[in-house]
Amino acid sequence: MNRNYAIGADVGGTSVKLGLYSEQAGWLEKWEIPTRTEERGAHILPDTAESIQTVCAQHGIEMDEVAGIGIGVPGPVLRDGTVCGCVNLGWDTVNVAEKLGKLTGRPVYVANDANIAALGEQWKGAGSAYQSVVLLTLGTGVGGGVILDGHIVTGAIGAAGEVGHMPVLSASAVRCNCGKTDCLEIAGSATGVLRCARQLLEERSTPSAMRGYRELTAKDVCDCCAAGDALASECIARAADALGKAIANIACVINPEAFLFGGGMAAAGDLLLNPIRRVFRETVFPPLRGTPIVRASLGNEAGITGGVRLVQISQDR
Ligand SMILES: [Zn+2]
Repeated sequence: MNRNYAIGADVGGTSVKLGLYSEQAGWLEKWEIPTRTEERGAHILPDTAESIQTVCAQHGIEMDEVAGIGIGVPGPVLRDGTVCGCVNLGWDTVNVAEKLGKLTGRPVYVANDANIAALGEQWKGAGSAYQSVVLLTLGTGVGGGVILDGHIVTGAIGAAGEVGHMPVLSASAVRCNCGKTDCLEIAGSATGVLRCARQLLEERSTPSAMRGYRELTAKDVCDCCAAGDALASECIARAADALGKAIANIACVINPEAFLFGGGMAAAGDLLLNPIRRVFRETVFPPLRGTPIVRASLGNEAGITGGVRLVQISQDR
């Protein structure tokens, strides 16, 4: 039996993204289904399995021809494919590999969503020239994934790559979701940038274009910074300072070939990346100064891409 197909899946709080991949022809189909979080997320894996089977049948592909399913989930994943608590999905402890495996009859490989996105970027995205990269995704929080020699680093309890919770700030008045007050994501996330903007607008009487927005967003702060607004620039500089120092620390531990930045905030491009590069070069161990810092390129397809790669890697073992 030739198993020339693989499924990539990425479970998020609102939708499950899916892709059917052929070793010969690349993507045959990419699609998504809604994430039903009711009844503690009990429908998510059955819905996913059914959708995979339907789409494979539409393409005339037997499930036996599918080498496996690589799936990203928003929580820490243990080596046996168990995820311990996904608040967004209503899940407590769920053995995704076993459950989805039973539903589909195919091997299932599970990883944390940020880690699987990093693997996707390293395989086919902005990291494809490298074997070892670190991806940081800047959104509501700061997610991260570490790829060393083409493999995801998961760590003892699946928490490797949780760079958003690196203690890089002096204790702030803001508490992170994890309970600490010094986490990178307090300053480096889109949420953090927006919080900074609101705080400066309240504390200072300086004129600022940001005062003209009824519902200010992190993108508005970036736009105002690009237009030369002093308060907006200060918020971006604060975020870049925290992010630049964080990756300087990561570089000293694992010396990756490149850092990739993804997520909504990374759309700001060089406006954000240039100050990050500056801080990185000023603070990192000098021999590592040349490490490239680039924007991730796969957007929200990084997860399903990494899912396919995870199947390939697991089959090769
Ligand atoms: Zn935290």
